[in-house]
Amino acid sequence: MDIYFYNTLTKKKEKFLPLKGNEVRMYSCGPTVYYDAHIGNLRAYLFMDSLRRVLKYNGYTLKHVMNITDVGHLTSDADEGEDKMMVAAKRENKDPYEIADYYMNKFLQDMDKLNIERPEIIARATEHIDIMEEYVKKIIENGYTYQTEDTIYFDTSKLPNYGILSGKKVDEQKAGARVDFDTNKKNVSDFALWIKAPKEHIMQWDSFFGKCYPGWHLECSAMGYKYLGEEFDIHTGGIDHIPIHHENEIAQAQGFCGKIPAKFWMHVNFLKINGGKLSKSLNNFYTLSDLKEKGYLPEVYRMFNFGSSYRIPINFTWDGMDASLKALIKLKEGYQNHLNGNDEIEDDVIKNYEVKFHQAINDDLNMPMAMSVVWDVIKNPKKSKKFAELLLKFDTVLGLNIDKPIESQEKMIPDEIIELAEKRKMARENKDWAESDRIRDEIAKKGYTIKDTKNGYELT
Ligand code: AMP
Ligand code: ZN
Repeated sequence: MDIYFYNTLTKKKEKFLPLKGNEVRMYSCGPTVYYDAHIGNLRAYLFMDSLRRVLKYNGYTLKHVMNITDVGHLTSDADEGEDKMMVAAKRENKDPYEIADYYMNKFLQDMDKLNIERPEIIARATEHIDIMEEYVKKIIENGYTYQTEDTIYFDTSKLPNYGILSGKKVDEQKAGARVDFDTNKKNVSDFALWIKAPKEHIMQWDSFFGKCYPGWHLECSAMGYKYLGEEFDIHTGGIDHIPIHHENEIAQAQGFCGKIPAKFWMHVNFLKINGGKLSKSLNNFYTLSDLKEKGYLPEVYRMFNFGSSYRIPINFTWDGMDASLKALIKLKEGYQNHLNGNDEIEDDVIKNYEVKFHQAINDDLNMPMAMSVVWDVIKNPKKSKKFAELLLKFDTVLGLNIDKPIESQEKMIPDEIIELAEKRKMARENKDWAESDRIRDEIAKKGYTIKDTKNGYELT
């Protein structure tokens, strides 16, 4: 069955076919590992996961690269401010490499909790400095750069089609420039490729231009090229990547080899809260742990995301999470009812559902439509193992573990309480009974009960 994806590059829904045989080569912009991922970030990776699963459902194999940004992403996407890794290192009084390891592992755990499949290749920027240096040298050789005392810039005016993704022209960007834009740049849209590192910038490497670190956009171009070649099938990211990061990736690739690297550019829209951004200052920078504390497991958030197309903004609400939790429970019950059923079902009925589901996911990942087919199957008054089997097939795309019960209440105990219980266990091992009692009281004050058992403890 044909697949159609909306392509930001052409601004149309287009029929998708891989460039080479049966393998889809795909690149996804991954996280900057300087903080916990919030549920908005995670929406982006849930979209990436659905795309993977839909391609696999259609019989394709995948070569999928996701980067981990652990150097060079400044606090503004457009070359301003400090390196985010350095900001985090100062905030937490740690080495930026420690910060990167810590938040990368947390991010990968979040992916696992959400049942997001891991891309075939996870590439860390700091492990690819050599390929980035080679990439920059070629762009210089090809005449697309200029250099100031401390930076090698990409000259966007050298490209006739700079702005192809967002529809912005170099001149327009100039006209709308803020007065404080870096006066060393020739055009507002020019961007740093390779930057001389000040002494305090811990992440720096010897290079043809002295001790340097790479500009943020470079890693995706260089690593995409290394693993997927000059041209590949799909590039994904959030809509915030369209005007700067992906525009600059396209510019770099054109400077490097004259080609736009990906055929399809797919972008996921934002998760909003009260119509606005998630932010620390508004106290709505929710993470998976926050959801868990409120009683919602990651799979509920996964379900929540299937309520809208990836291309439109969604508004996060606790009511929405409640509805998703109820729906998830019903879904799993519905599966069990079918599993226990023995009604006769004609093959055509199954085929009909199957086609509708397939059409929905192949129509630019129309998950709300796909879910409506799933509900039709669940609600079918006849109960049959054939329907249960069909639901399991659909679940290879949904990733909801439809055949497993919703995780037990015990697993919903917040991390904070588990940490206290672990501390108490240690105190008991050290025979510090006073501390053990104190922690038990603290746990009780927070509304939980701890009971000692043969193997440790039980929390309720
Ligand atoms: P970052 O770690 O800041 O580079 O962001 C990681 C990913 O999360 C990027 O693909 C962003 O586009 C995406 N992102 C950030 N905020 C949101 C949001 N509120 N909703 C959806 N995606 C987001
Ligand atoms: Zn990227």
